[in-house]
Amino acid sequence: MSTENQNRRDFLKKSLITLAAVPAAGVAAQAILSGTARAAGEKLVDEKDPTAAALKYTHAGKKPADYKEKRGGVEPKDQTCANCILYVKIDDKIGKCNMIANGAVKAGGWCTAWQKKA
Ligand code: SF4
Repeated sequence: MSTENQNRRDFLKKSLITLAAVPAAGVAAQAILSGTARAAGEKLVDEKDPTAAALKYTHAGKKPADYKEKRGGVEPKDQTCANCILYVKIDDKIGKCNMIANGAVKAGGWCTAWQKKA
């Protein structure tokens, strides 16, 4: 296993542990399942949803001011839901996220769990 794959696994493991600590994040396991199902007419998740907020998700793909992390060779400015491994496309504008159960995310969105799509 490559170091990058190990780092990715460690990161995802830590993210799931973090989610487990968020009240109402009992939905995390459910999120993993629902992300595989495409839902027509899916509503966008509220950015204040506990899981989305814990992950600092924004529809606009805004990163925290101090976020400078290049992941998988991708600069922060180029990291979006559309090129995240956890994104399941519904259409060109939205998709489901395997981390967020309560609604769709925008293709141009972003959160701290972003990982490069393989
Ligand atoms: Fe989900 Fe990835 Fe978008 Fe974060 S960046 S909300 S993990 S699809």
